[in-house]
Amino acid sequence: MPRPIAAHIHLSALTHNYNVARQHAGSAKVWAVVKANAYGHGLHNAVQAFAHADGLALVEVDNAIKLRELGWTKPILLLEGFFHGDDLHTVQQHQFDIAVHCNEQIEHLEQAKLSVDGESSIIKVHLKINGGMNRLGFKPEAVAAAYQRLSAIAAVKVVDLTMHFANADDEHNARLPMAEQMRRFELAKASLGEIKLEASVSNSAANLLKHDLPNSWVRAGIMIYGASPLPASAAELDLLPAMTLRSELIAIQEIAAGEAVGYGSRFVAPKPMRIGVIACGYADGYPRHAVDGTPILVNGVRTALVGRVSMDMITVDVTAISDAKVGSEVIMWGQGLPIDEVAQSSGTIGYELMCAITGRVKLITE
Ligand code: PLP
Repeated sequence: MPRPIAAHIHLSALTHNYNVARQHAGSAKVWAVVKANAYGHGLHNAVQAFAHADGLALVEVDNAIKLRELGWTKPILLLEGFFHGDDLHTVQQHQFDIAVHCNEQIEHLEQAKLSVDGESSIIKVHLKINGGMNRLGFKPEAVAAAYQRLSAIAAVKVVDLTMHFANADDEHNARLPMAEQMRRFELAKASLGEIKLEASVSNSAANLLKHDLPNSWVRAGIMIYGASPLPASAAELDLLPAMTLRSELIAIQEIAAGEAVGYGSRFVAPKPMRIGVIACGYADGYPRHAVDGTPILVNGVRTALVGRVSMDMITVDVTAISDAKVGSEVIMWGQGLPIDEVAQSSGTIGYELMCAITGRVKLITE
């Protein structure tokens, strides 16, 4: 028997959440962002659950090929474009859309000697604007030149201007408000004069909060996996958890007041306690920084982590759960326990917890 831990992936929740993203998007189409193995949920699950999606977006060229192998025939967008000139023939062969964010990529496109053999060989380019995040993209004043160079390449068609917000969950951020990022985006657009391109600016947070942005496509990630990018809870946003990380109790210890639990003896029992030992540790992706009190469900009852997270095990207070025994079901996050609450107790975000699930945790499709 394998260790009793698995991540259960709820396809109907993924589908529901995508539909919520679509409602917020209005007339815009919605890329389902499936990078990092669909935020840990599995590309095969994403292809099934998002079968009705307008397109899939990711950053890994090899996984984009895998999507085609899984039968995905609709648009695929490489959010960071491509990484080497060598990738371009793959891009063309599989009809991937690419974001282009720097002059080096334009040089690769110019030098690749890409053949043009009908409409299907044209590479659709999404020209990336740096709205102030200063990670990827052209500053507004560099956009017209980039556009001109790209337009001169026979195998390329620039289809939109795209931008990624640095802080869409914090509209009035003192250093870089969303309005300032949109101002830069509009400057980039205006620099093209009569040339009118479509736009894609919103991620989940912007899609949920602002319905007046100029999107022909939004790019929805975290919300389609059922976690919230905002202070509002996922439930308040009508999002359903798409991953439930389940395990079992593998031991129970009865301890006296004053005894300690786990590495470093971090937790000391203030009273006689029953401690449940769970087959789940940081080598499964459970956050090592989770503090005492991090919520966990045992037999459907909410209780708390006690003691340091170790590689293969965590320990939990089951004193008040009289039917807790070896084999009892444990939920680390998912149905009944929002991943965002666990993330908060570990100083991280739902995104990281989902993506950190490791290869030894089986994904079970439900
Ligand atoms: N667009 C780009 C360019 C991204 O890098 C990401 C993810 O980081 C997204 C969209 C999706 O963001 P979110 O998961 O916050 O919806």
